[in-house]
Amino acid sequence: MLTPGVPTRPERAPGGHARRRDALRAALREAGLDALLVTDLVNVRYLSGFTGSNAALLVDAGDDADRGEEHTVLATDGRYTTQAAAQTPDLPVLVERACAPALLNDRRGRIGFDSAHVTVDGHDALVAALEDGELTRAPGLVETLRAIKDAGEVDALRQACAAADAALAGLIAHGGLHAGRTEREVARDLEERMREAGAEGPSFDTIVAAGAHAAIPHHEPTDAPLADGDLLTMDFGALVDGYHSDMTRTVVVGTPAGWQRDLHALVAEAAAAGRSALAPGTATRDVDAAARDVITAAGFGEQFVHGLGHGVGLVIHEAPAVSATATATLDAGMTVTVEPGVYLAGRGGVRIEDTLVVTDDGAVPLTQSPRDLVPE
Ligand code: ZN
Ligand code: ZN
Repeated sequence: MLTPGVPTRPERAPGGHARRRDALRAALREAGLDALLVTDLVNVRYLSGFTGSNAALLVDAGDDADRGEEHTVLATDGRYTTQAAAQTPDLPVLVERACAPALLNDRRGRIGFDSAHVTVDGHDALVAALEDGELTRAPGLVETLRAIKDAGEVDALRQACAAADAALAGLIAHGGLHAGRTEREVARDLEERMREAGAEGPSFDTIVAAGAHAAIPHHEPTDAPLADGDLLTMDFGALVDGYHSDMTRTVVVGTPAGWQRDLHALVAEAAAAGRSALAPGTATRDVDAAARDVITAAGFGEQFVHGLGHGVGLVIHEAPAVSATATATLDAGMTVTVEPGVYLAGRGGVRIEDTLVVTDDGAVPLTQSPRDLVPE
């Protein structure tokens, strides 16, 4: 019997949530923390499988894994008791509306909290709740773990990417990219097709930018009709089991002009250089440089106005950043985008983006749509 509104499909982490908490414990001990208060809901989901809208998790470092797990507690409010029992049968659940402060009652020792996810008022409440311990900033610990995906996560991302690929292929096969259609119609079409292909929905607001709009990297679709000769940039992705795919293709409506072919070939070359540079041990800023140098050498460096890419997973933009100022180093299991673009104000632009997983043998693209300027 199904309880209405309660997701019954298990999270994609067979035994994996406990393993993730163990990995976090090692990081906590290394940081000299007795526990970590996790308040970001994505991090709570990652570590426990719980997907409700009000929750916090206290991960105890323990002297060993067993003792740590024994003292690890999920808190949520009364609306979610059934859901928590279904999704986190392996954790004790504290039912309390003010989840985070409640988890600090009777706690002692050095307790880390993620200062990037706690407001000033929220911090005051934590200080008041922790009578006999020390609250200390500990940002980014869970995000660092999240950057390296396990097999189940890569599988979810692969399915999310496949849904986006299927949507674009269906759109093209059904003649959905012709003059007269509007940007909004194309965006809706892509989103419906992603759902038909098994996605929970789009992973972010679909970008469809035609003609001069293609020069705006994050253009919102309008009722502007596509015209023959327009560059058309579509940046979209699908959501599967909470995992986000991200892909951009730029095509031309009708027959391309010479300058459009040249621009597309240049960005395609930069994207290929970026993809080839992905390898464990490489600084992400060097990946950015590999792609950026191609565009700069052609004289369009000033028109490539954003970073090369980003990590992607339970959120659309996550660690590691892939940009000229990034400080991350790649590792096997990271999933990142490579998305160089050149934007010519008033004329249009080209961006080509893929989601890839870094492996010991180089990067494997998870998005697999053809990158042709003229779709077939
Ligand atoms: Zn994108
Ligand atoms: Zn992206």
